[in-house]
Amino acid sequence: MKGVFATVFFTNSLPSSFKATEDEKGRPRGERPAIELQELSFAYGEQTILSRISFTVPKQSFMGIIGPNGSGKTTLLKCLDKTLTPTAGRILLDGKDLAKISLKELARKVGVVPQQWEVNFAFSAWEIVMMGRYPFLTPFARESREDWVKGRAAMEATNTWELANRPITELSGGERQRVMIAQALAQNPKLLLLDEPTSHLDVNHALELCELLRELKQSEGLTILAVFHDLNLAARYCDALVLLKEGQVYASGQPEKVLSTENLEVVFGVHVRIRQEAETGRPSILFLPRTKAEV
Ligand code: ADP
Repeated sequence: MKGVFATVFFTNSLPSSFKATEDEKGRPRGERPAIELQELSFAYGEQTILSRISFTVPKQSFMGIIGPNGSGKTTLLKCLDKTLTPTAGRILLDGKDLAKISLKELARKVGVVPQQWEVNFAFSAWEIVMMGRYPFLTPFARESREDWVKGRAAMEATNTWELANRPITELSGGERQRVMIAQALAQNPKLLLLDEPTSHLDVNHALELCELLRELKQSEGLTILAVFHDLNLAARYCDALVLLKEGQVYASGQPEKVLSTENLEVVFGVHVRIRQEAETGRPSILFLPRTKAEV
């Protein structure tokens, strides 16, 4: 679906147990989506950044947001975590209007892993993870046993428990990223938002992180919405994709539909060859150089 502001229910990417209970619109019966964006717009002053964005993220799905630099991906995530307030439209989280959810309540529902994070003080990885428990503490209260249990569980789920005593400043990019995911998980969220989680990782650690996210989706029943720079990773790991172009939804749906030769040429201005991976059935993209006449 191109150039339209479509509301899409990504039913084909849902587990079969969901499919059996779809309503006539393809929406899981009795199950509210984790996120519903309704004609969301955002502007910095006169400059429109996002224009009438509508899409739906089903619970326990892994959705990727892709698009060229400046297309509005980070701005969209910032509207979702309430860093920015939309100029029009609505965001519903589990059916509830985000505008009516307090920041503290939001922090208990949504874990956020930002693109850049600077920690100059040598907090231990454990201390960083326990910061994720702040939304659950009453003023001046110390962490409870439950906070410790949740913190440890989050570190075990992300394979960071053995790093607990290490200063965060001494960890590799991949280890830090896993610790930040552990911090978000310690909040016990239902929804995880990540901004380019693999952008500072080498290919091996990027794959490892995506595997981890996919496992967490299953084991923790998480809904994951992540901005992806790497289209092949997005194709391989996401159940569905939203492709942004100049602040609008250009295409959305299953990766094989969104990542078409045409869409990538129009939105990214690149020539590509796309084949289907035999092993995964997912699209794999080979980027081709421009012809001499085009350069
Ligand atoms: P992406 O994540 O897709 O690269 P962004 O959401 O970061 O895109 O940015 C979308 C547009 O918003 C860009 O044109 C960018 O220059 C602009 N922008 C981002 N932050 C600000 C800001 N604080 N003030 C004004 N414009 C901004």
